[in-house]
Amino acid sequence: MLALRALAFVAFGLAVGSFLTVVIHRVPRGQSIVAPRSACPSCGSQIEARDNVPVVSYVLLWGRCRRCGTRIPAEYPVVEALIGGLFLAAALAFDDVVVAATVALFFAVVVAVAAIDLRHRIIPNRIVYPSLVAFLVAIASFSALGRPLSLSRAGLGLLAYGGGLLFVAIASRSGMGMGDVKLAALVGLVLGALGWAYVGVAAALAILAGGLAAVIALVRGAGRRDLMPFGPSITAGALISALLAPQVASWYTHALR
Ligand SMILES: [Zn+2]
Repeated sequence: MLALRALAFVAFGLAVGSFLTVVIHRVPRGQSIVAPRSACPSCGSQIEARDNVPVVSYVLLWGRCRRCGTRIPAEYPVVEALIGGLFLAAALAFDDVVVAATVALFFAVVVAVAAIDLRHRIIPNRIVYPSLVAFLVAIASFSALGRPLSLSRAGLGLLAYGGGLLFVAIASRSGMGMGDVKLAALVGLVLGALGWAYVGVAAALAILAGGLAAVIALVRGAGRRDLMPFGPSITAGALISALLAPQVASWYTHALR
């Protein structure tokens, strides 16, 4: 039964990952994510269905367009495989299948936001606002149906993480932007629904990852303006925390004794 669930999650994750490559490419450019169908950016020929199978097509085509032979960016199979892997991890980490599916879709959203932030230095409202509404509605419905998600903790998580970063953004006037605040609010909402420890661990890991990235950038001679965006750190903290927060929290309390 668990194997069947894992398989279903991987297959769905690969498909979602394939859709995300379109989202990541088109949303920052203000283009529709529904139409037109994907085409080769070099020769303009539409990608046929047989060449649109996640990861597999890339391998079979040796990473090149079937028509003109132009290289397909490795980002496509990498995002697809990453989302497939994260869906699998969510399926294995949560006993309740509804919770696992909610977390998996949350992973897809925060990875897409991180990828766009990395390349374009923006956290698109077009993704974050609808996600906030969708996950709020989902958490409210699922908790009402008796699934192990807490709506009140979700609200508090949103206020704690989002509010915390809002304070930092105002106080520091550094690279932290309102996009980061909104992303943190989304992470606080979903992880808060799972439990307090998840929000705390996610925030701690994000600060750790962000600090580490800043130090590495400064050591390599980057100026303040070239510093890494903070969105990917928020996402990394959220992914690790969702999968490992109970272990991290218990390790931490043991280490303090
Ligand atoms: Zn082509």
